[in-house]
Amino acid sequence: MDILACPMCRSFPLRLTVLEREQRYKVGETIRCELYCSFHEGMVAELPETRCWECYSWEILSGILTCQSCGRWYPIIDEIPIMLPDEFRDRAREKEFLNKWVDKIPSGVVRAESAD
Ligand SMILES: [Zn+2]
Ligand SMILES: [Zn+2]
Repeated sequence: MDILACPMCRSFPLRLTVLEREQRYKVGETIRCELYCSFHEGMVAELPETRCWECYSWEILSGILTCQSCGRWYPIIDEIPIMLPDEFRDRAREKEFLNKWVDKIPSGVVRAESAD
């Protein structure tokens, strides 16, 4: 999760909003964040050493990655981040995703879509 960049503007890190997660691995038995930590939203070098023991024990089932540079957002569906440039985005699938999570998505995470 710490190396994903925006496919449109190449900016990173992307901001992670977790909608649904599951602790799948034992804390301390996974690799740890290397460059950027999405869970604590900071560069690892600036985080206390012990804080990244649990990050990789969590599997993100559903979530949203937001590019803070261009404002685009990308869904994580069934554990897979869908990182597609504009021309390949599946708007119908995204709409379905947004409708499903509308109550859990904080305001400002998904930018307003143009009217369809
Ligand atoms: Zn971390
Ligand atoms: Zn971007």
